[in-house]
Amino acid sequence: MLLEAHDLGYRYSGKHPWLLRHVSFSIEPGETVGLVGPSGCGKSTLARLLAGYERPQEGRVTLGGQPLPKSGYRPVQLVFQHPEKAVNPRWTMKRTLGEGGEPDPSLLADLGIEAAWLERWPNELSGGELQRFCVARALGPQTRMLIADEMTTMLDAITQAQIWQAVMERARRQRMGVLVISHEHRLVERLCSRIIELGGDRA
Ligand code: ADP
Ligand code: MG
Repeated sequence: MLLEAHDLGYRYSGKHPWLLRHVSFSIEPGETVGLVGPSGCGKSTLARLLAGYERPQEGRVTLGGQPLPKSGYRPVQLVFQHPEKAVNPRWTMKRTLGEGGEPDPSLLADLGIEAAWLERWPNELSGGELQRFCVARALGPQTRMLIADEMTTMLDAITQAQIWQAVMERARRQRMGVLVISHEHRLVERLCSRIIELGGDRA
């Protein structure tokens, strides 16, 4: 489904100035787009607006021409840099995965998730292993759009490549849009057909 940002404006409450202003773009189903910009320009904030975790003060986000659903499964899924902040430490990995619906065994295999890890607790996995679970959870059958906010920044090159290969394969099959937010220009250029620059004069 087409994801559209219509003239978004966002400022944190209090005395903060506008962080995002007049931000408009769209991402087609099956399209992979990069989002780059200097640190602090609002990329992660924009990611949260696109996934529906925050509401913009100006403009709107639509998916397939409709506002994002207010409850239930989020069709725009967000994966960010630190997986340990995205999981409940008191849930086993099996339960964590269950949040996104029944996991598809072939997806788990593509992501290199071993069956034995399902019984573990988050603190019994490495950062890279934990991130694979966060990616698997985000790639449920109802996901229309994945926002990867520095998703593989902390990982070694081999793990990074394996995760991206699984994500791109799934995105192609589900005609899912992907927004790649990363400061690694080589990664963005390799994966994306188009790049949006945020911050500076071109916001
Ligand atoms: P980026 O991901 O591009 O580095 P962020 O969206 O994380 O940028 O942050 C953009 C700006 O908003 C930064 O100056 C940051 O300090 C500020 N910011 C982030 N979260 C909050 C918050 N909850 N309250 C106030 N300011 C915030
Ligand atoms: Mg950020």
